[in-house]
Amino acid sequence: MSLSKSLNKNVFEIAGHVIQPGERIQFDLPTANLYTHAPLNMPIEVIHGKYSGPILLICAAIHGDELNGVEIIRRVRSFRGIDKLHGTLVLVPVVNLFGFIHQSRYLPDRRDLNRSFPGSEKGSIASRVAYKFFNEIVQHCTHIIDLHTAAVNRDNLPQIRAALENHEVKKLAKSFSIPVIINSELIENTLRYEAGKLGIPVITYESGEALRLSEKCIVTGVRGIVSAMRVLGMLPSKRIATVKAEPYVARSSSWFRAPLDGLFRPLCSLGARVKRGDTLGVISAPFSSEEEVLTANSDGIIICLSNLPLVNEGEALFHIARFEKASAVESEIAAHESNIEEDRLFEIESVLSTEI
Ligand SMILES: [Zn+2]
Repeated sequence: MSLSKSLNKNVFEIAGHVIQPGERIQFDLPTANLYTHAPLNMPIEVIHGKYSGPILLICAAIHGDELNGVEIIRRVRSFRGIDKLHGTLVLVPVVNLFGFIHQSRYLPDRRDLNRSFPGSEKGSIASRVAYKFFNEIVQHCTHIIDLHTAAVNRDNLPQIRAALENHEVKKLAKSFSIPVIINSELIENTLRYEAGKLGIPVITYESGEALRLSEKCIVTGVRGIVSAMRVLGMLPSKRIATVKAEPYVARSSSWFRAPLDGLFRPLCSLGARVKRGDTLGVISAPFSSEEEVLTANSDGIIICLSNLPLVNEGEALFHIARFEKASAVESEIAAHESNIEEDRLFEIESVLSTEI
């Protein structure tokens, strides 16, 4: 999409705030109160461009312990020249404030916020937070990139998850320009499902571990967002070199589960290609000399790995995605990783001086 040349004559109104073209503001969205009467306010930044264009919501920490996205958003907002964008950026680095404070995925009612959309005005705390976010913020945007990591004790290869049967969603997924896309089914009450029902294309960037920051996952995410914003016509086409990758869509994916209880040691890494019969890892019984070798029951690429050695039978250890051309995907992942490692955005100062 080419850049719109038309000056933005319209103010942008969101959650009771009126933002002039060329203006950026921060505000707190009140969502619910804790029983201490302390308010759970969601911090939000809006950058309303001088030129018209899409309204892109980038949000993170819907699961409060998933931190890579918080840092990704901080870097996107810090780019020099980000306020010259075409269109509007709505940045919500921490959707689940309570979980973020408590280093937890959940809210005090133990509900998963990403199963609570579109929420209800009078429901449990998760429903009320979801309702406010959905009604005051989500519905005012034209595109959404939702940032996640694996659940605690797991590590995700950087990947996009999206429901690709929708043309606009597929375009957004590919525009992120990373090697692995999972065509993932929509689950009711998730942000992707409920915003999708309103016709808003949503993609999820999954990368890294809960409660950890990974520079590789962060830089990949920042580069992916810049790439998507260029395709959406929100940023000038490259003043700086991009880190691009050929995106491959998985045919399917499945979990390899522990066949017995014990101590688990993985013997393959994220992004590796495995073939049926290859050794994936070992489970040993702590009080015997027995060891069970885990062998792959299908070909594919490892896209998620458990990093907790204590396992019970049935627990998910490896998420394996199947592709038409697995060897091409493996090479693309390796090439993309080394490009990202050499990227100057690995030094945070270059974000602050990089004109995008
Ligand atoms: Zn998540």
